[in-house]
Amino acid sequence: MATIDYDYKIDVIRDKIEEIGASNVILQFPEGLKVDAMDVADRISEVVDDVNIIIDADPCFGACDLADNKVNHHIDLVVHFAHTPLPIKTECPTLFIEAYSSADVEVPIKDALSSLDDNVKTIGLVTTTQHIHKLDEMISLIEDEGYIVKLDNGMGTSQAQVLGCNFTSIKNLDVDVIIYVGSGDFHALGVKLFTKKPVLLADPFTGKSRDIEAFYDKILRVRFARITKAKEAKSYGIIISSKKGQLRFDLAISLQNLIKKHGFKAKLLNMDYISPDRLLPFDLDAFVMTACPRIAIDDSAMYKKPVLTPGELEIVLGIRDWDDYQMDEIIIHDEQT
Ligand code: SF4
Repeated sequence: MATIDYDYKIDVIRDKIEEIGASNVILQFPEGLKVDAMDVADRISEVVDDVNIIIDADPCFGACDLADNKVNHHIDLVVHFAHTPLPIKTECPTLFIEAYSSADVEVPIKDALSSLDDNVKTIGLVTTTQHIHKLDEMISLIEDEGYIVKLDNGMGTSQAQVLGCNFTSIKNLDVDVIIYVGSGDFHALGVKLFTKKPVLLADPFTGKSRDIEAFYDKILRVRFARITKAKEAKSYGIIISSKKGQLRFDLAISLQNLIKKHGFKAKLLNMDYISPDRLLPFDLDAFVMTACPRIAIDDSAMYKKPVLTPGELEIVLGIRDWDDYQMDEIIIHDEQT
């Protein structure tokens, strides 16, 4: 398989450092790209003089989580890789470098198309930041095989782009099948949950495609089990994130009121990095996640007690039907402070 490169745009970073006269620059990479961090830091150091390049070694899962207030405000510039900006107010200049992937999209898309029934006429197309620069190529590949491609603009995302917590670009498309070009099961799962349509995951990193149905069924079974267990809960912890792009304070307060109204105990817990061991000191029966929606779904097996999304809490409390199960979303409309 060909080597996959990412375009880290060192010249753009150099120009930004020179433009604002930055002395201390912090680099933020998602987990999958941290292996490139030292090389990228070296390449930046080679083209600028007297600039301290700091690699943020903490976990980073999205543009919701910026390092602008780290190192006790010594930072002049954040360079945030592989995500597109969210409308979040930052404490220092932040440069987003999308880090587009060179991975081939033709082979996995053709693999996906070869598995379609003859009655499929329209295809919805979505992808992630790493592959969005190849959107025109993706459309041509599908149209060349005689299908009609439909795309939509999301709220806070670009055309055909999905985030792990924002599926607005696909929700309202009337299509026979959806092709998601990317590697994350979670994104494909979100597309499936929001549309209930057949979803094929075309993975540029493996060159293969697969139907998401089996994974979707498995996740729904797990969620059903967590909801069933949470029906025994008498006390809840409502987790609030201190990350700006994950902060849903008003939602947390309304959930607290809702739980209390149903006669149960509710405590608000503020967290930055959320992990099972950090919840151990709290003698609570279940937790509700107002931070990143991925935590309740992706990391479910790590938590002994149920960790619910706000919608799942509504099912537990009997104010939403299981048939109306929805994935949680964080849609940031206005600049968040
Ligand atoms: S909240 Fe979660 S899914 Fe949304 S951008 Fe942040 S890390 Fe990704």
